[in-house]
Parts: sequence; C-alpha cells; structure tokens
Amino acid sequence: MFINLLSDTVTKPTPGMLQVMWAAEVGDDVFREDPTANALEEKCAALFGHEAALFCPSGTMTNQIALKVHTRPLDEVICDEMSHIFQYEVGGYAFHSGIGVNLLRGKNGILTADLVAAAVKPRQDWLPVSRLVVIENTCNKGGGSIYPIENIRAICSVCRERGMALHLDGARIFNALVETGDTPADIGAEVDSISICLSKGLGAPVGSVLTGSQAFIAEARRVRKVMGGGMRQSGYLAAAGIYALDHHIERLRDDHHLARQLAAALAELPWVTDIRPVQTNIVIFDLAPPLTPAVLLDYLKKNGVIASAFGPQTIRFVMHLDVTAPMVERAVAVLRAVV
Ligand SMILES: *Cc1c(COP(=O)(O)O)cnc(C)c1O
Repeated sequence: MFINLLSDTVTKPTPGMLQVMWAAEVGDDVFREDPTANALEEKCAALFGHEAALFCPSGTMTNQIALKVHTRPLDEVICDEMSHIFQYEVGGYAFHSGIGVNLLRGKNGILTADLVAAAVKPRQDWLPVSRLVVIENTCNKGGGSIYPIENIRAICSVCRERGMALHLDGARIFNALVETGDTPADIGAEVDSISICLSKGLGAPVGSVLTGSQAFIAEARRVRKVMGGGMRQSGYLAAAGIYALDHHIERLRDDHHLARQLAAALAELPWVTDIRPVQTNIVIFDLAPPLTPAVLLDYLKKNGVIASAFGPQTIRFVMHLDVTAPMVERAVAVLRAVV
C-alpha cells in the first residue's frame, strides 16, 4: 500500500461517511428540493455567521463564482502572488470575469493591510478598478501558512474604507481555526464571502461551499448554473460534507502534529534546504543540488511513498485523514535512506 502524501484531496470516504451518504434524503437541488444540500448550506452559513451558502462541485468553482459576483469586467482583484486563484485556476479570473490581477508579495502568502492599501489604484479612466481583495487561509503555496486574525481585521478595514469586497479562499480554513482557536464566526464577521473545501483535509469525496449575504448567494446560484455546476441529487455528496464538518475538524490537529514530525526529521537531512515554517498540514522544502525532484520522487515511489514536485527544486508533502503515525515513521525511514 502506498503512503500518499500528494495532497489532502486523496482521501477516501470513511465507513461512517459512506453510511450517511447511503442514507441521505435527496431531491432535485436545481429546484432547491434537496433537503440534505439545503441542510449543508444552512449549516455552513450559520457556522460562519453569514446569511446564506451554496454547495458547489469544487473550490475552483466557489472561488470563480465569488470573483464573478464581486466584480465587473475591467475591474481587478488584489491578491498575493501565491494565491490559488492566480496560480491554479487556469487564469479563470480573466476567462469568466474579464478582470485583471494586482499581485502582491506577502510573507509565505500572507498579506498585511499596508500592502493592500498601497496597492489600491486611484479611480482614473485608464486604470482598472480595484474592486476585490482575496486572501487565502491557510495559504497552500505558502506552506499551509495561517493568516493572523489581526491581519484579516486590518485588511477588512481597508476594504470597507475603499469600497472593496473581501473574499476568503478558505479551502483549508478549519486547519487554521483549530490552531488559532478563533471561531468560524470571528472570521465570517470580517469577510464578505468564504469558499470552504470539504474535499481537502475534511475528507469528503467532492464539494465546496460558498457563503455570503442573501443577495450575493442569490446571484452566485445563477452563476453556478451558467458554469454548469447545478447538481441534481447532490444530497448524497452534501451528506458527506455534513459528516465531515461534524467529525473531521478536531482531528486536523493530528495532521498538523504529523507534519511537524516529518519536518523535524527532514531538518536533519543534508540534502534538504529551506523547509517553509510548518503551521498546519503541509510541508514544503527545497532540495540541495544535484538532487532533483524527479530523482527523489522516483526513489520515493519505488519505496511506497507518493508525493509531488512543487517547483523546479521544491517538494510538497501533505498530511490528511488517510495518513497515520506509522506511515509517517515509515516515510521518515525511507527519506533517511536517501544517499
Ligand atoms: C484545493 C484548493 C482550492 C480549490 O480546488 P478544487 O480542486 O477546485 O476543489 C482553492 N483554493 C485553495 C487554496 C486550494 O488548496
């Protein structure tokens, strides 16, 4: 059996999760007649203190819908250069919304209010309108880095002063919350919309939820439909999401513990450089030449460990629901045997 450290998206539903999926009460969600999808949406909205929510097939879709609803063509979104919306969503901001990006360089993907304030463009006929700020918590490419709530509050103030919306790409928001002790409502109060992935560390097979105001979600529902994301008996999937929220949040701490263990072992190895600070479930580090990701990943695979390159000289390991302590011990033994 492979030890799969490729991503926290690789988890398979647990027996308990499959049981609630099997038993879910469903209907046609395009007509809003799926009671389980409705229950998931209500649960997420209530959790974050927002008015409404929308269940979607993926986190790319929830983010792209948010960009579309918050902006108009010729606007721009301000975000960190490491953002998922910029790096890994196929340039969808331009494709779906006709907007530009104003890229900032924060620290491991974390922006400050000063950086944001300095990036807001004055209103001129020849400039895009700075309409939206997107923050990512935790930041994937930043090594699972956590946004301090003080930064979020200060960025929120800048957005309100300048008439900009603030969207949170909270694909891994619960990884942040179990570490900081902040509540979902603490975060919800500071942002206009949130994208939450159920299919990452929370362990559901499919799905993300977008939260926001009634008016925002009403429009988001239309955009979901035009993107082809209107699902029918989606309650089978929503049931997995509800189960994940009820059972798999607290255990994210275990993933973080294993990530720190793995990072500590890597720090002892001569061919490992620049391990990014490990705050949650992601470990990103560089290889000292002449070792390359291709050679290392091939060796790991032959020894039962799957991972991915995250740059020309960079590797990423991700902990999740299907990674156990003995698996990490085994992976560490394999890593120590690299010559
Ligand atoms: C995974 C992820 C998404 C959405 O990805 P999908 O694979 O489309 O569900 C968005 N933002 C971040 C930070 C992510 O890690």
